[in-house]
Amino acid sequence: MRRSLWLVFVSLAMATACAKPTPERRVIDDAAAALGGRSRIQAVKTLVIEGEGTNGNLGQDMTPEATGQGFTVTGYKLSIDVPGGRSRIEQTRTPNFTYFQGQAAQKQTLGIDRDVGYNVAPNGTATRLSVPATKDRRAATYHHPLMIVRAALDPQAKLANARNFGNQRTVDVTTADGLTFTLAVDSTTGLPTSIVSMADNTNLGDVAQETSFEQYQDVNGIKLPSRLTTKIDNYQTSQLRVTKQAIDGDAGDLAAPAAAASAAATPGPPPATVTAEPIGRGAWLLGGQSHHSVLVEYSDHLLLIEAPQNDTRSLAVIAKARELVPGKPLTMVVNTHHHFDHSGGIRAAVSEGLTVVTQKANVAFFQQAIGRAHTIVPDALAKNPKPLKLEAVDEEMVLKDKTMTVNLYHIAGSPHADTLLMAYLPRDRVLVEVDVFSPGAAVHPYAANLLENIKKRSLRVDRIVPLHGTSVAFDALMKTQPTN
Ligand SMILES: [Zn+2]
Ligand SMILES: [Zn+2]
Repeated sequence: MRRSLWLVFVSLAMATACAKPTPERRVIDDAAAALGGRSRIQAVKTLVIEGEGTNGNLGQDMTPEATGQGFTVTGYKLSIDVPGGRSRIEQTRTPNFTYFQGQAAQKQTLGIDRDVGYNVAPNGTATRLSVPATKDRRAATYHHPLMIVRAALDPQAKLANARNFGNQRTVDVTTADGLTFTLAVDSTTGLPTSIVSMADNTNLGDVAQETSFEQYQDVNGIKLPSRLTTKIDNYQTSQLRVTKQAIDGDAGDLAAPAAAASAAATPGPPPATVTAEPIGRGAWLLGGQSHHSVLVEYSDHLLLIEAPQNDTRSLAVIAKARELVPGKPLTMVVNTHHHFDHSGGIRAAVSEGLTVVTQKANVAFFQQAIGRAHTIVPDALAKNPKPLKLEAVDEEMVLKDKTMTVNLYHIAGSPHADTLLMAYLPRDRVLVEVDVFSPGAAVHPYAANLLENIKKRSLRVDRIVPLHGTSVAFDALMKTQPTN
């Protein structure tokens, strides 16, 4: 008995000694050793990271190419229950630009508790994320050296494709819960330098989400980075300077708020509800939910103003337009500005054969947007490719036939964006605009510039139809300005 056990032991030891680790396994083993060792990593219960930094403003800057706008982040705290799969970020963001909600700092809470992703608004209201947004939130939790290496040490993880780039060794890690990352480590130190995962972005399609790690420091026997920088493709979306971090400290209660946990996770954006309300002769506001459009009827065709948000919204708006005036083809869509929430349906409009009319500063952006790959979540245009037909507006364009006139004007000098168009329907003295005046909003930081542009053009406006909210008499815009 004793003899046979001994033999088993010897043969196991020989097998272990002889089995050469794969190149993939070596990258992970070296990274684990550099961070503090496999058993130390696997024993970690909590990680709490505090710091400050910046957030970008992807898709919402002054032009499609601009990168100057952002938020200063203070009071950042990331608390992770490592084996429990729960984490929460709390932070305060202050805009460094003229923000539509005003300049006051706002608190954000972003969390995940197993399969419940959630956000808590500054007023305390918790909402549950959709299934795809929860998947992205889960992927984000692995964008840290300790979390990805710990996941890669799991026997259920799959490792593939070890390779070298300069002073980097990279390996693809598919975690036990089925998410794939590319981990890069420094060939000399073995310390992780970056993690990349691919994600779907409504406007940009397939994007690389990359977090890079610098300035490692020793925390209770584990090396942790103190500078973390996140990019979407080449656009920096956040930078964090760690001021304090602790292993196995008090992470607090990381359970999802009850309101989020008890809500259903929707499979994607909510179904669109589109209402129609006349705003003049041959013109309708296509309302419902948050982002609206306007339909304009010409003698032999239809024009849509705005294809917002995503395929779901914009395809429903296009269907509503065709239902309202079934006898005439919908041929054109005017884009008010490049901001992602107002241009997220342009690809859908192109897939439906519409010509895009936009301010000239957006031309390169839309040409690129139409050409980008959408393989992770194929959208309407990926499934039904069509070439881009585009007309650029510089300062002014008149779209006119014998029954209808629409004047498009560049809203010059707006602190909201440099790419804005407003639409004026002279027969009914209706002005269509978005974001630069939203009746009922707490602040109106762009209204003075809108008034200037209306005066400069000598437009006689009776009603304003904003694409957020409800239409109002022109007087409502005047009342946003101080009287003197
Ligand atoms: Zn905007
Ligand atoms: Zn808006």
